[in-house]
Formats: sequence, structure tokens, C-alpha cells
Amino acid sequence: MATPKSDNERRKQISVRGIAEIDDVNEIKKTFNRHLHYTLVKDRNVATSRDYYFALAHTVKDHLVSRWIRTQQYYYEKDPKRVYYLSLEFYMGRSLQNTMINLGIQSSVDEALYQLGLDIEELEELEEDAGLGNGGLGRLAACFLDSMATLGMAAYGYGIRYEYGIFAQKIINGEQQEEPDDWLRYGNPWEKARPEYMLPVNFYGNVIDTPEGKKWVNTQVVFALPYDNPIPGYNNNVVNTLRLWSAKSPVDFNLKFFNDGDYIQAVLDRNLAENISRVLYPNDNFFEGKELRLKQEYFMCAATLQDIIRRFKAAKFGTREATRTDFDLLPDKVAIQLNDTHPSLAIPELMRVLVDIEGLPWEKAWDITVKTCAYTNHTVLPEALERWPVTMLESILPRHLQIIYQINHFHLEDIQRKWPGDLDRMRRMSLIEEDGEKRVNMAHLSIVGSHAVNGVARIHSEIIKSDLFKDFYELTPEKFQNKTNGITPRRWLLLCNPGLSDLISDKIGDEWTVHLDQLQKLKKFAKDSNFQRAIMKVKQENKLRLAQLLEQDYGVKINPSSMFDIQVKRIHEYKRQLLNCLHIITLYNRIKKNPAAKFTPRTIMIGGKAAPGYYTAKKIIKLVNMVANVVNNDPIVGDKLKVIYLENYRVTLAEKIMPAADLSEQISTAGTEASGTGNMKFQLNGALTIGTLDGANVEMAEEMGNENIFIFGMTVEEVEELKKKGYNAYDYYNSNPELKQVIDQIENGFFSPGNPDEFKDLADILLKYDRFFLLADYEAYIKKQDEVSAVYENQAKWLEMVINNIATSGKFSSDRTIIEYGKDIWGVEPNYEKLPDPSVPRELALKDN
Ligand SMILES: *Cc1c(COP(=O)(O)O)cnc(C)c1O
Repeated sequence: MATPKSDNERRKQISVRGIAEIDDVNEIKKTFNRHLHYTLVKDRNVATSRDYYFALAHTVKDHLVSRWIRTQQYYYEKDPKRVYYLSLEFYMGRSLQNTMINLGIQSSVDEALYQLGLDIEELEELEEDAGLGNGGLGRLAACFLDSMATLGMAAYGYGIRYEYGIFAQKIINGEQQEEPDDWLRYGNPWEKARPEYMLPVNFYGNVIDTPEGKKWVNTQVVFALPYDNPIPGYNNNVVNTLRLWSAKSPVDFNLKFFNDGDYIQAVLDRNLAENISRVLYPNDNFFEGKELRLKQEYFMCAATLQDIIRRFKAAKFGTREATRTDFDLLPDKVAIQLNDTHPSLAIPELMRVLVDIEGLPWEKAWDITVKTCAYTNHTVLPEALERWPVTMLESILPRHLQIIYQINHFHLEDIQRKWPGDLDRMRRMSLIEEDGEKRVNMAHLSIVGSHAVNGVARIHSEIIKSDLFKDFYELTPEKFQNKTNGITPRRWLLLCNPGLSDLISDKIGDEWTVHLDQLQKLKKFAKDSNFQRAIMKVKQENKLRLAQLLEQDYGVKINPSSMFDIQVKRIHEYKRQLLNCLHIITLYNRIKKNPAAKFTPRTIMIGGKAAPGYYTAKKIIKLVNMVANVVNNDPIVGDKLKVIYLENYRVTLAEKIMPAADLSEQISTAGTEASGTGNMKFQLNGALTIGTLDGANVEMAEEMGNENIFIFGMTVEEVEELKKKGYNAYDYYNSNPELKQVIDQIENGFFSPGNPDEFKDLADILLKYDRFFLLADYEAYIKKQDEVSAVYENQAKWLEMVINNIATSGKFSSDRTIIEYGKDIWGVEPNYEKLPDPSVPRELALKDN
């Protein structure tokens, strides 16, 4: 076990995280020992580090429980409008430290563990990430939950409790290998199973006509077992709920086989139904039309809507029967936000519940559905848009297919009324695509079934209106909105970067934790050499810590005074990790050509997972690793240039990388990255950005001013122009000798001497099939990188820019994003009231407030 922190290190933590109260410390020690004894059934002679982690997690969770119960009671009593955030992904990461920080007990817990002779940081490392997401979309959902709780909104996350989250990435001989993420192996101390609230979900079967209307019959039932996860607000005693559904076989599953006597087979087959919540699909920005995925999407929607309607009825009418007109109130009491189209079956499912089960007329039900639902679009890439085959829906969800056809019928009537005879427009806007295999366009369904449709950065929301959903914008312009993404400053600064947090709070107080705009107050210190020095010192410490981690985990030695140039995100052609790679090779060639020339040392790090079936993305990973091999082992290069592949990029690794970054790479082809949120994490932690005018980079540049960011490359308009004109990569290849050399080296096996053809297909893509125009931006990128190096040599200038970056990151708090959703889409306001502290007896607490 590592040595506990020194008194000095402990004092430093106490300064930003409040004071450890002796009573609290003693109480925590007692509770910890009680859990070690009664929950873990261990004494200190035999307890492992993992036992200590679990005892600690249970101790911290105990501090949540009363607040959780009281928050839910409070919602029941006050019956505010509920917000339901439906998402197939919640990329939560770890909970222990986040819970301690939001509850304000970090210092007391630190002190208690110290007095017990335990190293809290070592124990924290034993928590598995809740990796129930792929990348930005899933992490956004997690940041939103933190903000909604901190803003006192009566909000619920709803999703799936995947038994296996996003795979663990191993790099072996430069290649990605996937390992299953068995994150529940040792149990999950944060969740509470609620078998008493289990709900049935139907699949397959057929639809019959009855005097009371359509009936969906002969279905196969799977049960949805809810697991509740606490979502603590920051410093406000609010604890909201993330409810994740797990699939359970019904007791009588495959009853026929039981009766036939094949008992063993019938028991084994129960797994079939329970496979629904087995594993997260590892695609980011890619639609793979798998049947099991469709079942996951419906499973989540069907269970969640039953829960929503039950809660609506219980709050509104108690035990009396709801009448048809009661449902008129649904849009006043319920907002459903769809995180991309993944949960879009909530629309036909809500229609089915209102029409088939509650007996509402179609028009009434449709009005309620549209007023209740809202849809967030996350991508314009055609390969990412969900289009489910009609045949698949017909078999698995026959009633929903009928409802979708009915919605489409009225939708096409609307179009016909507005544009009589415009058959091509009808074809373009139909929910059903008829060319080739018949498919349902889920984005079209989501737009028609929602009262609000939003993009996730200003430029993306404009592209949606002018291009992707142009026809729909012309039909219902009032639906279209922008909600620029954000990140929670609690996890992405207070938690991950205590050194910078302390420094900022010393300078401007700590209100920035809940009002990130306060960081503006740092602007006047941008040129202050004392403050610059303090900022530099924190960054240097963070870089040293990352360097130590990389040496300890991967045995790579890096120069901590070099520029840390980092690109971490899912590996995708549109994100252009290959362009970064072209720069690396260019730098290498320059050093080799002129070893004596002045050079600004860089450690270039690239990290991210490729979807297991994405051939080109996996090749890119291999290329980066092979280039790293050559560069890192060339004595001529020395420590001027090092290339590191950051294995298994995930939330927990992001928390260690962001504080140590000097340069953030945000280099997607303009018009392809909807927003990005990694860009915001880097900015908040004092890295400068080299980036294109894409996604939220545009608004970051606007906030900080172009003089504080390294913008290069084509604009969206210029990309469009190039597409029209026709892109010929050879034009750039033939006119730039540095570029030609780099491409030739990739093509001819310079980096893969054992297999000269290894990267031929990558060179081929770059020269012949490149959808993302890498060579068109190459020269501008290299020029801008040279400028980055020059500025890095001017420390005062660099630090001034760093401070200006931090000072202007306020807009990118997810608190701001959520306030906008509340105001413009949900009809919900923040509640800044602090709930009573439940450790105080209830009567006293109520009088207090
Ligand atoms: C923030 C985050 C992302 C999103 O990064 P982008 O650069 O916006 O694509 C992906 N993965 C993890 C683990 C993150 O924390």
C-alpha cells in the first residue's frame, strides 16, 4: 500500500474542499469501521484494499441516503414539472470523489482515512468507471444530470444498466484489442435495485381489431428491473435519480418447454431475454441496424414511459382512476428529452399508451405527445442516422409500425396542404424511405413528434436548418433551436484539477463552481506576471504527475518541459487523427533533415477507442503506434519529439489528461463535429486550442477572441465550395514536397518495414477516397502548428493566452446549457433554494428554512 499523504499535501486539499470537522471525522471513522465489519465482513488483518474501497464507498453513500429520500419526498409534495432525460448512454465514470465533493465532505473523509492510516487516492483508483457510454453523447448526458441536480430541477435520467459497458482497450503490437468491461464483477455500491417496481415490456406478437380499438396480443414479455443511482447536486442537499433498467426473464419464460419436459433447456433459454441489457453497442457516430439494439431502444422507452405515466397519475390523482381529460395536463407536468434518435420509439410508444390503453382520440393523443417530447440531434453524418428496416419493426413492434404509418399519413397530408403536388418534397420528408429496402427514418419521426428540435452548437444548429433538415425547417421553423453543449465545472475542474481550482478560488473566490461566468474576473490578471507564474507552476505539477503515471503504467519516459500536445476522442475519420499524424511525420522529417535547427520540443499524445468493426479507425491507431516506434527510438530525435498512444481513453483517464495539457487538438473537417465537449474540458483546464471553425470551437473563439486560439483551415462554406468544385487530393500532394514525402512514407512502408503494404490503404484513402479533405487543410495546419511552437517559446505570451482561455470558458458550463433547455424547451426554472440538511431533525430543518 502506498504511503498516506504528507501533512502538507493534506493541508493543501483542505483549503479548497472546506474544513474537516472533528465530529464529522469521528463519525466517518466509526461508519467506515462499521461497514468494514458488517457490510464487508472483514477485520483489518484480512481486509484488502478493495474491501477498504467498498467500506469507504458505503460510508459516503450513507451520507446520500437521507438527502435522496428527502429530495424525492419534496418532489412528491410540491409536484413540480418533471424532466425526463432519455438516453441509451450515460458515461458517468467514477462516483466516489464526485459524491464527496458535491456533499462537501471531502476534507472530513480525507482526514478520517488519514487517521485510519489509509491512502484515499489509492482506494479511489479501485473504483470501476461506469462506462455506459461511447464518447461525447454519453458524457453529455452525465454532465447534464450533474447540472440538473445542482440547479434543483426535478429531473430523472433514464437508460439501460448494461452488464458490460464500453470495452477496455489494450494496445498490443500497436493494435487495438478489445476486452469486455465486466464492471459489476465486484458489485456496485452506488446502485439500489428496486425489484418491487419491475415492469413488463412486450415484443413480437400481432395486432387485432376489437370494439375498443387495436390490441397488441400474443406478445413475448420481458421484465424491466430498475436500478436507481443517486445524482447529488453540488452543495444543495438535492439528490436526483438515474434509473437504469435491467432485463429479467419472466418466471414462465418458455413455459412450453417446461411443459414439454425440457426443463434444463428452458432455464438456459432465460438468458435470451436477459441479453437485452447485456452489452453497450460500441459504435460512436455510426448506425448498425442490429435487432438486439432495436430491442434495447424499445425496452428502455417502454419501461420508462410506464414509469413516467405512473408517477404522473400518482402525483395528480392519487388513487382515483385517471380520466381522459386528465392527460391534457401531461405536457404541463412532464418534459421528455430524447438524447438523439436512440430513444425515439418513445414517440409511438406514448401514442400507443394514450390511444390503445388510455382510450384517447388520436388527435388529442398526438397533441399531447408533441407538446411533451423534444429531440436533440447530435450529428449530420449520414452513416450515423438511424433508419430501421420496416421488416424488423413489423416483426418486433407491429403495433408501433402501424402507429408510425398513421403518423406519416397525417404528416404527408400536412405537406400536401402546404405544398400541393410537390411529390418530391413528400418523398424527401416521408418518415418511410422507399428507395431500396423500406426503412423508417427515425430523425424524421423525432422531428414530427416533437415540439422542439435542437442542435448542440450554433454552427451545427444552422447546418441542420439549412441542410440536413431543410425541408422540416420550412414546414415548422418554430421548432428549431440551438443549445450549445457544456460540461460540468465540478468534475472537469474542481474534482480533476485541485491545484488550479485552489489558485482560482484564492484569486476570485469560489462562486465559479456554480456560476462559471465568474471566471471573467481572471481576465484582468492575464498579464500579471505573478499570476502567470502561479498558473505555470500548477500546470507544471500536473504535467509531472501525468508523466509519472505514464512512466509507471507504460514505462515511457517523457520530457515534462516539452509541450504536451494532446488529441483524445473516439477515433473517427471525420475527427482527423490522421491529419495530426501527418504533422507528426512532418516534424520528424524536419528534425532528420536538419538536426541542428532550433526545435520546440513536443510530446504528442493521441488516445481514443475505435469501434471494433471500424477497419480504417483501427488502421489509424496502428499507424500512430508505428510512427511512435520510429520517432521515439531515433537517437537523432532525442527528446525533441515523443509520440505516445494513450491506451484505454475513458472518463477517468480524461480527468488526468485535461489538467496536464498545453495544446488541445480539435481539427475535424468544418461541418462534421456537431459540438465537441472535449474542446471545452481542455479550455477550462488552461490548454490552448488548435482547431478548425467547427462545432463549439466557433463559439470558443468568439468568447476568447481569435488572438487567443489557433484557428486554421477551411470554413464550412469553403468545404462546400470544394465539394462542388470537386476535390482532387493530388493537387495538394503534387504541390507540397513536405506533404508528398509524408504520404510516400506512409504508402511505401517506411513505418512498417516488416510489412511494407501495411498502410497502403490509408495512403489510398488520403489520395483517392477521402471524404474529409485532409490534404486540403494540411498546409494551413502545419503553418498554424509552427505558429503554436513560436508562441510556446514566448512564455509570457503563452500564459497570457492560457489565462484568457480559462477566463472566457464560463459559457461552456453545462449549468448554462441546462438553464436554456429549461427556459426554451421544458418550461422549467432552476430552483436555487438549498434543501434542508437531513442530518438536522426534520421539524428543526423546516423551521430553519
Ligand atoms: C468529453 C469526452 C469525450 C468527447 O470528446 P470529444 O473531443 O468532444 O469528441 C469522449 N470521451 C470521453 C471519455 C470524454 O470524457
